[in-house]
Amino acid sequence: MTVLTPLPDAPARLARLEREAAHQSALSAGDGRPWVGARDGVRPVVIVGAGQAGLVLARGLRRRGIDDVVVLDAAPAGAAGPWTTYARMHTLRTPKDIAWPTWGTPAVSPRAWFEAVYGTAAWEQIEYFPTTAWQGFLQWYREVSAITVVPATHVTAITPTDGPLDLALEGPDGTWTLSAHHVVLATGIEGAGGRSIPSLLHDLPADRVRHTHDDIDFAALAGLRIGILGAGTGAFDNAATALEHGAALVDVHMRRAAMPQVSPYRWMEFAGLIENYGTFTDAQKWAFNVHLSAVDQPATQNALWRAHAFDTFRFLTSSPWQGVEWTGSDIAVTTPHGIHHYDVVLAATGIASDLARRPELARVAADAVLWSERLTPEAAAQNPGLAAFPYLDDDFGLVDRAGGEALSRIHMFNHGARISQGMLSHQIPGLVGGATKLAAALSRRLFARDSASLLAEYLAYDVPVGVQIGRRAQPAAAEAPTAVASSG
Ligand SMILES: Cc1cc2nc3c(=O)[nH]c(=O)nc-3n(C[C@H](O)[C@H](O)[C@H](O)COP(=O)(O)OP(=O)(O)OC[C@H]3O[C@@H](n4cnc5c(N)ncnc54)[C@H](O)[C@@H]3O)c2cc1C
Repeated sequence: MTVLTPLPDAPARLARLEREAAHQSALSAGDGRPWVGARDGVRPVVIVGAGQAGLVLARGLRRRGIDDVVVLDAAPAGAAGPWTTYARMHTLRTPKDIAWPTWGTPAVSPRAWFEAVYGTAAWEQIEYFPTTAWQGFLQWYREVSAITVVPATHVTAITPTDGPLDLALEGPDGTWTLSAHHVVLATGIEGAGGRSIPSLLHDLPADRVRHTHDDIDFAALAGLRIGILGAGTGAFDNAATALEHGAALVDVHMRRAAMPQVSPYRWMEFAGLIENYGTFTDAQKWAFNVHLSAVDQPATQNALWRAHAFDTFRFLTSSPWQGVEWTGSDIAVTTPHGIHHYDVVLAATGIASDLARRPELARVAADAVLWSERLTPEAAAQNPGLAAFPYLDDDFGLVDRAGGEALSRIHMFNHGARISQGMLSHQIPGLVGGATKLAAALSRRLFARDSASLLAEYLAYDVPVGVQIGRRAQPAAAEAPTAVASSG
């Protein structure tokens, strides 16, 4: 694992970078003049989630002159996103040259920050952004963008009314309501559902089963035998973390015969796809995602090496779990190769889409169109898990089965947009396309809402520029020139 140390003069370098960012922003002066704010107490946009997606969108909206945007997050201050909790990998999967929505200010890019803090030599050495550095960058990005986040505040319900959307909030000071015209759910990988735990694990004692997204007390796993179902990067990083904390043995079980060797995500990281995924037909979007799920991607090399560094680690292929039983003292897992006994099992089985599982969406879940309703039964049967994803409009908005408009103002800027919008909302390289598209859409929709009053404001506009008619006034002479007498 590469250990990064900030340069001794990192604070001064960052201060210089911040001055450069301010100068770059000033070079595009004119952008950002506020033209829409709160109206009758209704906020134009509330962003739920202050991870990378919420932050870049907030900056992009301000640059478009959309003011009074509220950003809130259930996590305590500075802990938004997975990077300080269950992202147990040492580095991102995405190669370090990350496309990033700079909104005209390259000085606020990940690379500019990294080079300021760790130096250009360190940048040359790394292949992937370390996760701790990524979290550090996001915190700085929030500060340098002057984005205020309301921390430790959950949105517990969204209720559409004839006018605004009412958000029920719960925070350290109690509960209250906030009204918004648009709500952006920048709520991350679980934003359209939750953790997926296969049913064959449901009957085990609760304290013997964990999901890799859980807050796991790894010290308590010391001396225990751990079985992990699933073989993505998270499986290997959780295996390594358990072994680093003294687990007696850890097995990772993969259904496939071999680790995938191709990552379709590497193909996807180009501007043409990121900007234009939305022009795919529904059939193309479906084929794209069914293929992605089937091919999957390899676990990262770092995660594999990290787990394989232990003699007590095993990677078992062609090893689906056919039966799981609580024996009274441990867990017996039946596979084609035999029966394995574990004290605790970890589900590295990702997430499932199910809008009704999200408290904030519970009141609208039954009305929202899903992909299954836009597919033939044969197509939906290719991947029922994907077919349960919400079908979104081109503005990331939910679509109301009964044709109502309010749901289209709830924008899924999270993993739920995976089929409708591709990688634009939930993969770092896609944010540049997603945030640009969503910011433009919100601007367009708010302009359309306010077009009558904006036109009236324009027609009534009477602020004089202050031009003067006649010759340009000459500056008063400092002193009359002295006449020189001629003697001739
Ligand atoms: C372990 C892991 C590793 C990943 N590695 C990569 C990678 O290498 N490259 C890549 O491109 N992508 C990666 N991803 C995918 C993606 O980039 C991350 O999930 C990323 O964190 C998504 O950012 P986000 O802003 O959308 O959501 P998050 O960073 O998850 O932020 C969402 C925020 O919403 C808040 N929230 C949720 N519900 C509510 C609510 N009801 N009320 C208030 N707040 C709420 C949460 O507290 C959270 O802080 C990874 C994902 C995971 C889980």
